[in-house]
Amino acid sequence: MELKGLKDLVFGAGVSGIAASLVLQEQGAIVRLADGQGRDHIKAKSELASLEGKVELALGRQDEALLDAMDLLILSPGISINHSLVQMARSRGIEVWSEIELAGRLCKAPIIAVTGTNGKTTTTSLLGEMMKTTYADVVVGGNIGTALSQEVAKVSAQSCVVAEISSFQLEAVHTFKPHIAVILNLTPDHIDRHGSFSGYGLTKERIFANQSPEDFLVLNYDDAAVRDMANKSRSRVFFFSRLAELEQGAFVKNGSIRLRWNGKDEKVCSIDDMKLFGGHNVENSLAACGAALLAGVSPGKMAEVLRTFSGVEHRIEPVGTIDNVPYYNDSKATNPESSIKALEAFPGHIILIAGGRDKNTDLAEFMRLVKEKVDLLILIGEAAERFADAARAVGYNKVIRAGNFADAVKVAHTTARPPQVVLLSPACASYDMFDNYEQRGRAFKEIVQRGAGEA
Ligand code: ADP
Repeated sequence: MELKGLKDLVFGAGVSGIAASLVLQEQGAIVRLADGQGRDHIKAKSELASLEGKVELALGRQDEALLDAMDLLILSPGISINHSLVQMARSRGIEVWSEIELAGRLCKAPIIAVTGTNGKTTTTSLLGEMMKTTYADVVVGGNIGTALSQEVAKVSAQSCVVAEISSFQLEAVHTFKPHIAVILNLTPDHIDRHGSFSGYGLTKERIFANQSPEDFLVLNYDDAAVRDMANKSRSRVFFFSRLAELEQGAFVKNGSIRLRWNGKDEKVCSIDDMKLFGGHNVENSLAACGAALLAGVSPGKMAEVLRTFSGVEHRIEPVGTIDNVPYYNDSKATNPESSIKALEAFPGHIILIAGGRDKNTDLAEFMRLVKEKVDLLILIGEAAERFADAARAVGYNKVIRAGNFADAVKVAHTTARPPQVVLLSPACASYDMFDNYEQRGRAFKEIVQRGAGEA
């Protein structure tokens, strides 16, 4: 579709919507950017300012008249395809695209797209690093902070794009066709938005719906829902497994990552040599190695990256050492499932700081693991009382409550002795004390780093 002269309504003035507006305007489209929130409530204020004079701003509006004379509606990921304005657009025959659909149409380079319930950012970043060992121009974007449409508008056919894609971004794709698609796992999440687990799975499947036999689909063999997607794909399937030795694919054998594909069987590196830790990161690494192999990266280059890549900020991130005790920031763990992954990543002797805004999630399994691996549980925030009750319910009582964040770190500091580690993995949202998990993680790091300076 020719974008020049097209009248586009972009709905949602977040990072993606603003970027899409600018990209469309640069392509010669006539753009109206709308948001139900007024200007004062738009967070991306400086980005918004860059649109002045180029794009019509319709802030604080979501009425039907916005659609008048429009040819196309572009949706920000925050807006559901079930929104009334989207339904109205459809009934008027206006095409509805997600921002990723726009990106896919503009992109001249092949796309490697990574999705899944958990591990997207880690795998996308790791794969991006692997690709950089072999390709001169690698663009990493998507759900990872920068809008994909903005990134791909700049790339040439020789570039290579690695994109993190969320289920929200897949709701309104029609022609999006990654050369390599990766699906990491599928567990119940965002059911409120997608209606049901099967609805959520069907949305994820849109990532490979337009692939053809020359494309590749990297799937988690250990996850039944993901493994079964192989039956629906027209592309070539590459499985990865942490548990089984595969005839073809990426797997673990004798403690090492191996790749078996097209008659070759090669070792990448030993898991002990990897800088990332935790079983979940073995899965992410297997997926990244599989996609990198299909894109032409050698196992030797993958190994170089795996030996040095220490992960993404706020995900079991090493912060420093005080009195020979290492501190880790896992502020991204905003639910018990994520904190369980962090606890599983350590052999034990953990001093755990948890709590925050309670999501009223089931704590039974989390507390069973706390009992097994945690020497002291320091609780903060609104969830402290319910967490303390849940600990008591499994017979665990090495629990201390701290009034604030700095006190929690102080308690950890005065108690911790090697071989213990101090881990912030809250299993809760941050909104009772912070704007978001990033702010919480940075606050933790500052306190720890100050402590390290004094030690
Ligand atoms: P996403 O971008 O999908 O949210 P991240 O890479 O940011 O994923 O990781 C977020 C959290 O999800 C991690 O802190 C960890 O607790 C959990 N996680 C990461 N990878 C996996 C995986 N492969 N399987 C299950 N949980 C994972």
